[in-house]
Amino acid sequence: MQLQEKLKLEIGRYMDSGMPIIYVDTLEIGLYRSLIQQVAEEKNREYASWSLHSGLRSSELSLGGDLLTAIKTIESDLPGKVFIIEDISSQLDKPEIISHLRHIAEEIAIGNLEECNIIILAPLQTISQELELYITLISTGYLDGEQIKERVREFCEYNGCRVPVDDFMETLSTSLKGLTETEIDNILALAISDDNRLDMSDMPLIRKQKQQMIKKSGILEMINVKEKLEDIGGLERLKSWLSKKAQIYAHVNEAKKWGLDVPKGVLIAGMPGCGKSLAAKAASKTFDIPLLRMDMGRLMGKYVGESEGNMRRAIHLTEASSPCILWIDELEKAFAGIQSGGTGSEVTTRLFGNFLTWMQEKDSMAFVVATANDISKLPPELMRKGRFDEIFYVDMPKDEERRKILEIHINKRRPQDLENIDLGKVVKETDGFCGADIEGIVRDAIEEAFVAKKERLETTDLLAAIKRTHPISETMKDSLQSMKNTYKDKKFTNASA
Ligand code: ADP
Repeated sequence: MQLQEKLKLEIGRYMDSGMPIIYVDTLEIGLYRSLIQQVAEEKNREYASWSLHSGLRSSELSLGGDLLTAIKTIESDLPGKVFIIEDISSQLDKPEIISHLRHIAEEIAIGNLEECNIIILAPLQTISQELELYITLISTGYLDGEQIKERVREFCEYNGCRVPVDDFMETLSTSLKGLTETEIDNILALAISDDNRLDMSDMPLIRKQKQQMIKKSGILEMINVKEKLEDIGGLERLKSWLSKKAQIYAHVNEAKKWGLDVPKGVLIAGMPGCGKSLAAKAASKTFDIPLLRMDMGRLMGKYVGESEGNMRRAIHLTEASSPCILWIDELEKAFAGIQSGGTGSEVTTRLFGNFLTWMQEKDSMAFVVATANDISKLPPELMRKGRFDEIFYVDMPKDEERRKILEIHINKRRPQDLENIDLGKVVKETDGFCGADIEGIVRDAIEEAFVAKKERLETTDLLAAIKRTHPISETMKDSLQSMKNTYKDKKFTNASA
């Protein structure tokens, strides 16, 4: 297969150039182990490998044992060997391992050990600083658009089905972005399993499979959205800003020629329940690109280095899946430790550094929508110009906005009753209610009216539901006030007109 031949060539080149440690960032360990073994055989080089499961193995022997013993065995007998290390994540916090690896790397680097390579096969983790100097990173895994098309062609030829024509090939390759080679093969195999054809009728299946595969990564989730900008009551300034950016995205090549930058993203901060998440979802519909949600809680791993590895993988996967919207929900959760100087703060600071650098340098078609309730925990660097294109502050809805929100939610459920409702009265009684509260009273009122066997929803039903409700401004009074004060100081753009 052409692609694998290319990979073998690349690995071979790295091996020949005397790089002491080659770190192949991949989830497809088996595939790369076999490719490296093939390259080693072609070059008449011996190879050995170590994994937690099998211990030390060479082409003839299986010796078992832990990594330290394996390294010591190899150390005395390394010349001419390719040594593959798997399962490194469980080993990188052991000083003895680091020290031995560094020693071998130094020997290779100064030419005392010729034709030797240590190759680490693992998804990228934080690399200890002592080793970083000797490591050459090969990033693999995700294929770009052209590589995906090549893969699809090879797959069709191999399986005797018709190669998709241009338009469909474009759609197909876009929807397979962000997947590894093996994952693409699996999806294609499933798609042709019913009729040995690859066509538009397979797209729902392909999208569903991709969704599952992204979810398996554990950090990102691909979300189906129905929400449109028209489903948001109020927040007019934010909505028109998003529409403008969507237009730029839709004509990005022209826009670039005109001298515009590719939009980077937006931070939407403010009161809970006021439509921030709704705006992230509606952005996906408006831009007409998929929505990937990053789970900050999951990203913050338990183990040293895990969070950074996760962040890199999430960024990598996002870039590979672009064009897409990356929705970072509850951004403050990730950065909570930075200022307090808690135990996790060093990791968080580094993690945050990775993220900022990416935001700063990014010119891919991945538009970030970060949402946050409490910005007092966010580090000031994040709010500097150049990271986000704009930072919006979402306040409690004003009268006119509450009217719109009411209309939207009544219209969704009982459009026929809308003209009977005295919206003015309801608006007056809902001062201090957020969008989610208003949705709640509409739902509650409709339910009560149904149970009471009424023919239609009336103003009195809504007023009664308001009386039964404790709005967020009542239950979270103190914290909302302190949030309001912080936002006043920051002078962010108000999301409402
Ligand atoms: P946040 O992310 O700001 O905490 P959400 O966007 O999750 O709040 O709001 C929760 C739900 O409340 C939404 O799914 C929507 O049904 C309703 N809602 C909130 N704000 C609005 C709004 N401005 N217009 C319409 N519905 C809203």
